[in-house]
Amino acid sequence: MNTSAPPSPSILDRVYDHEANRASQTYLTQPTGGGQVVDYTWAQAMDQSRRMAAHLQSRGLAPGSRVAILSKNCAHFFMAELSIWMAGYTTVAIFPTETADTIRYVLTHSEASLLFVGKLDTWEHQKPGVPQGLPCIAFPLAPDSARKDFETWDTIVARTQPVAGKPARKPDDLAMLIYTSGSTGTPKGVMQSFRAISAAGKGFAEFTRRQIGPGVDARVLSYLPLAHSFERSCVEASSLWSGDMHVFFAEALDTFVQDLQRARPTLFISVPRLYVKFQQGVFAKMPPAKLDRLLSIPILGKLVGKKVRKGLGLDHVMFAGSGSAPLPPDLIRWYRRLGLKLYEGYGMTEDNSYSHTSWGQFSEPGYVGVPMEGVQVRLSPDGEVLIKSPAACAGYYKQPELTKESFTDDGYFRTGDLGERRADGMLKITGRAKELFKTAKGKYVAPAPIENRINAHPMIEMSMVSGVGQPSAYAMVVLAEHLRPRQSDAAFRAEVEAELSALLNQINQEVADYEQLRMIVVAGEPWSIENGLLTPTMKIRRARIEGAVEPQVGRWYSARGTVIWS
Ligand code: AMP
Repeated sequence: MNTSAPPSPSILDRVYDHEANRASQTYLTQPTGGGQVVDYTWAQAMDQSRRMAAHLQSRGLAPGSRVAILSKNCAHFFMAELSIWMAGYTTVAIFPTETADTIRYVLTHSEASLLFVGKLDTWEHQKPGVPQGLPCIAFPLAPDSARKDFETWDTIVARTQPVAGKPARKPDDLAMLIYTSGSTGTPKGVMQSFRAISAAGKGFAEFTRRQIGPGVDARVLSYLPLAHSFERSCVEASSLWSGDMHVFFAEALDTFVQDLQRARPTLFISVPRLYVKFQQGVFAKMPPAKLDRLLSIPILGKLVGKKVRKGLGLDHVMFAGSGSAPLPPDLIRWYRRLGLKLYEGYGMTEDNSYSHTSWGQFSEPGYVGVPMEGVQVRLSPDGEVLIKSPAACAGYYKQPELTKESFTDDGYFRTGDLGERRADGMLKITGRAKELFKTAKGKYVAPAPIENRINAHPMIEMSMVSGVGQPSAYAMVVLAEHLRPRQSDAAFRAEVEAELSALLNQINQEVADYEQLRMIVVAGEPWSIENGLLTPTMKIRRARIEGAVEPQVGRWYSARGTVIWS
């Protein structure tokens, strides 16, 4: 747990400074449909937040009450969070893709006193998850039905006088509960104090400024879910701390490239699955071999790289980060050849994602980099990565036993990840302690490194290595999106089978004999957040996928051949 001295000043003090010193500077840009946008300066954003804070206080909630936000990323998410903090409460953000059952669980477990309903695609399905009688306020971009059913943000702001002064919060007050979706089990509420979120905001702001360089406009597109700590820390808290970051929001999934082109981000963070998807989008337009050839031609190669980056909307990016799951080394190399400075980081909800990252010379594909400023790290005798971060959480809400078990006596968080460290501090994540499984061969198989090799194949979007108690391990794969429509075509299947059996042979030559794969199974349906097989940050939910395919596994093992269509 984190008991170190608070960084001084705290994130709210910084916000009050920006309100005074950057009053007319644009902070947030919100698309409102059809290519229109609304800009909010620091003064405008703070005026709305102050009015909403006064309204929340007028409801007479007890200090520290939990107030929930269910919304996709938008300017009002930031303003609502600031209003919650200024009013003396704690934010509980719920993933906008969550089901009604999880929404009910989180609202009930956190004992939320109020819910902000925002930009949502599936509100009608989610609505039944809101407990009867819970007061709700609709953001301007909330679905029509929510704006009819509940009082709206705009009406409240129009009739309420702003709170005055600089309402402060103590370093140990809770700024937020972050419910980790986790890849298994029920969500846990990770408690984040103002001390921790201030440390994360400061650390990320200072780090990103060094990376993009002095004098360069800091522009970012906020689209990874804010309910997750990576976006919340690296974009929201960091921008609240620095005051000089211009945050753009996205209009919709299918306008993503236009949204990027509007924002022209100089800082870009994403997750491996999306970097893979962007690459596959490029491959759908130009075969990998042809692009490779063009990139190797001096001078022309550079121009081609720039053109591809421009097509992706990433041509201004000075620092591209990836976190939340392993990034295949070949993918990093591919982006670097295009000229994108892509770096892998590593963190978790429990330390506000403020842990490790690669940068400058501390960068080698396969490694997640070095500790960020103020972070201490060591390995347990079993190779588990133990981390003491200035942005560490205060434990799990209402779970004191679990909190105690999760930290060492000297305050290091037990990450559950297995790793190796080099003398220069570079960390490599070699798997999850809990993901290891044994086949009938009796030795532990670590799926992550094998999946990484598989995911580097251009035909594959995602993979999972499994085979608990089976004669040997197997891999299941989801084909790249642009290939999936051809999945039932016989000639195409033959092509895939040839590619995947070559991949299987190559992998089996590289891994230990007890890790060798018996077969590669091609999934019939992609894994998605909607079908519950991916977490909201697009990590695979192993147990659920394994559960879903269990009835078929026996048949696969008795089938002939090394590539099987599920
Ligand atoms: P979350 O709390 O959802 O952010 O998940 C944190 C977990 O994601 C870590 O404990 C790791 O297991 C995994 N993770 C995050 N970044 C990486 C990375 N670069 N490589 C491998 N695993 C990662």
